[in-house]
Amino acid sequence: MADETQQNNAHERIQKLRDEIEHHSYLYYVKDAPEISDAAFDSLLRDLDALEKKYLQFLDPSSPTQRVGGAVATQFTPVQHAVRMYSLDNALDTDELEAWMDRMESHFGRFVPVVCELKIDGSSIALTYDNGSLVMAATRGDGTTGEDVTVNVRTVRDVPLQLASAGKGSIVNLDAPVEVRGEIYMSKASFEKLNRQAAKEGKPAFANPRNAAAGSLRQKDYHVTAERDLSTFIYAIADEANITATSQWELLAWLRECGFHVNPDVVRCEKRSEVLDFCKHCLEMRDSLPYEIDGVVVKIDSFAQQRELGFTSRAPRWAIAYKFPPEEKTTLLRDITVQVGRTGALTPVAELDPVRVAGSVVARATLHNSDEVARKNLRIGDTVVVRKAGDVIPEVLGPILSLRPEDSVPWQMPMSCPSCGSLVVREEGEAVYRCVSLDCPALAKERLIHWASRNALDIEGMGEEIVTRLLATGKVADVADYYKLTEADLANLDMNRVNREGEPILLGEVVAKKLMVALDESKTRSFARVLFGLGIRHVGKTTAELIVHAYPSLEALSKASVEELSAIPGVGLVIAESVHSFLANETNQAVLARLKDEGFALVEEIVEVGEQPLEGLTFVLTGSLVESGMTRDEAGERLKALGAKVSGSVSKKTSYVICGQDAGSKRTKAETLGVPILTERQFLRILDEKQAPAELGM
Ligand code: AMP
Repeated sequence: MADETQQNNAHERIQKLRDEIEHHSYLYYVKDAPEISDAAFDSLLRDLDALEKKYLQFLDPSSPTQRVGGAVATQFTPVQHAVRMYSLDNALDTDELEAWMDRMESHFGRFVPVVCELKIDGSSIALTYDNGSLVMAATRGDGTTGEDVTVNVRTVRDVPLQLASAGKGSIVNLDAPVEVRGEIYMSKASFEKLNRQAAKEGKPAFANPRNAAAGSLRQKDYHVTAERDLSTFIYAIADEANITATSQWELLAWLRECGFHVNPDVVRCEKRSEVLDFCKHCLEMRDSLPYEIDGVVVKIDSFAQQRELGFTSRAPRWAIAYKFPPEEKTTLLRDITVQVGRTGALTPVAELDPVRVAGSVVARATLHNSDEVARKNLRIGDTVVVRKAGDVIPEVLGPILSLRPEDSVPWQMPMSCPSCGSLVVREEGEAVYRCVSLDCPALAKERLIHWASRNALDIEGMGEEIVTRLLATGKVADVADYYKLTEADLANLDMNRVNREGEPILLGEVVAKKLMVALDESKTRSFARVLFGLGIRHVGKTTAELIVHAYPSLEALSKASVEELSAIPGVGLVIAESVHSFLANETNQAVLARLKDEGFALVEEIVEVGEQPLEGLTFVLTGSLVESGMTRDEAGERLKALGAKVSGSVSKKTSYVICGQDAGSKRTKAETLGVPILTERQFLRILDEKQAPAELGM
């Protein structure tokens, strides 16, 4: 009996302590007006914690002690939103905002009151309370399905774990869960502190407070979330039918009564000019706010009027987000560095003194190509204007010439690749400089994958993952290295994964054996395929064949000048220059020499006379061959080289008519006479496989 009384007393005290602590949390975190000292608050919390540990039967996930302890971290389970979480339509300038107000005005026949709120730059959150207790916190996700982040959100200090009783009176049906919505965000100060800490620990910095908030919210370990100092502003309810409020303005008042953190900078406007004034005011005070905002949300106040307007597929018609104009800042252009992309393109990059623009720190910005640097007249040492609009990539607009240092010089693209040091080339009429060296590490992976691909050397099984590991372990750097690999090299290749026992996974003998066979087989591929496999810019499969047809060996091809190459039917100046600069590159010459040593013939297999696969067949060509770009004469030559006869007109004796684009009367005649028709694709296949159409099942 005594036991029972003790228990009841304990329960009562636990309840009281919880209410008291929640009340002080609210005063401290929401109101910013604490009534007791931090020490007294901590002491209350400790008392509660001790009692809960003694009377485990009263432990409750909504207890304030559970904000930073207790429950087990969850994986994020999907949550189906009972009411969809919509996005907002944007007004990118005041004209668009006025246009929206015009629409509203013409719909209602007058200007109806609106509520203007700050657009908090954080992450959407939905909080569900059952019987007054927080039971679920979910992210927006795609609007229909979000993620359950309840455990993490419980650690956020200004989220009430229980609805304050003052608010409960306005709920129509207390038995139905109440879902409120708002934004979870990180203050500028906490964001900076977090990034300073990250820098100290050598970890990557967060780009902006919004990303930091979203990232902190989705931590697997809620202790981490607890340390991140997140806050919320709540501004919506999923189903307004369950509260007595009839407008957004009343809703905000009710949310305050419930203990939610509601942004104080809200206005109810009865005139258009008040909306515009508020937007202007917010833009001016934006920098002085302790958190990031990216605009103002204007909402029709009356719920009845909101319902009348309804939603589009993605956003409410009764609200609009006026986005602030892009922010511009000035900073120092410290350097222009050059990056080598995976296609060999050299991209100049502006290295800037880090500057905060539109909510994130900008330290680098692409300058696209050297023409762009010249056009913008940028020099190292310049003070430049940097712009960033919302989520858009930062952009260097141009220099402030009056601040240009006297000794500055125009910038020039380096003539050698910053990654491998070989000479870079610029093609006629192109803005981009490129590295064409076969052993440039920046390009290696793409080249190695391309070489092994089906239409090139067709090394079965040599996919991206294996190539990545071969590169990472230093076993292969260029295509000739493939042929130095031993079976043991491949079998022992560390795939950078571990099995269940935590042991590293190796490629293994079975795959290694197969790859060795495939590598060996690839040495017998035609010279045209090798040329294509080298990944020379602009040299596709058909072009490679055209080139090899004119220059059937590497030796002959290497001696050809740009003029000679561009005289090959179907090969223009751009291709000719690309092939020429590729073959003139010393590294590439060395790689080709090594391929030859490995057993590559690098000579076109000559089709023996008497073995001519198209012998006895007569072809007629019509229409234009757009895919290969060959003229009909060139195409005829290629057919004749394989033993075919080529005729200018269709008759019963014609074996096949090859129809390119816009084929005319010859096609009709062939159809009338029942002569089989081939497409350009099929024609190219005949050339490629050097077999008669019938052999190829055409
Ligand atoms: P956006 O993501 O640009 O389509 O903007 C829509 C998002 O703005 C919403 O999903 C909310 O997360 C966020 N938001 C921030 N502040 C407010 C606010 N006061 N009212 C409504 N939405 C807001």
